[in-house]
Amino acid sequence: MTRQHSGIGMTSQRTRMRMVERLREQGIRDEVVLAVMGEVPRHLFVDEALASRAYEDISLPLGFGQTISSPYTVARMTELARSGGALTKVLEIGTGCGYQATVLSRLAKEVYSIERIAGLLAKARKHFRELRALNVRLRHGDGHAGMPEAAPFDAIVMTAAATHVPRELMEQLAVGARMILPMAQTGEQRGEQRLCMIERSPHGYVEKKMDIVKFVPLLPGVA
Ligand code: SAH
Repeated sequence: MTRQHSGIGMTSQRTRMRMVERLREQGIRDEVVLAVMGEVPRHLFVDEALASRAYEDISLPLGFGQTISSPYTVARMTELARSGGALTKVLEIGTGCGYQATVLSRLAKEVYSIERIAGLLAKARKHFRELRALNVRLRHGDGHAGMPEAAPFDAIVMTAAATHVPRELMEQLAVGARMILPMAQTGEQRGEQRLCMIERSPHGYVEKKMDIVKFVPLLPGVA
């Protein structure tokens, strides 16, 4: 049996609308992002056994030991990436099951996404086909290098935690563009991750630290 896009009960449009209300209460302000969060059927991205929990504000396993971030974290990163304006080209590092990329695909003209685990790319491809996210281009590779041939990007969204900001990625930002990424902290905040936003100005890069988050680590090489 195939799963329906407009399911009933815990996976219905009404459940998604309640999630959007919670996101609004939690501080997500960008109505364009909220509308997309209300459209994308998150339950199709998680195991059927977990579908009924897909709209709770929790991260969920997506297979291969990886996790799909909570709706709040996805909405927050998307809001920061959009910064209130339309997006032309976005790069995502860490495709996973393709949920964040699907959200981005409805807000940007072109989405490029890199994943190091081949098995996950197959999963994501299936989701893009089902949801007709035809403007997402995937690559099996190590996201540290980015995609210089498609650069510059208006936004880069990294969905795995880095210990340092890869130089190559910073260079692939357009002037005025921003990179949103979870960063593993050092020193007294060791063990903690923070969402960071790095903006490229005509004079250099400006880094802002924001919310405490929890992501799987950014790993080298491919699998
Ligand atoms: N954005 C995803 C969730 C990502 S979980 C979604 O919405 O489903 C983080 C992902 O980053 C994992 O799939 C992991 O394999 C991938 N990853 C980790 N290090 C990477 C790297 N160097 N390059 C590309 N992908 C990487």
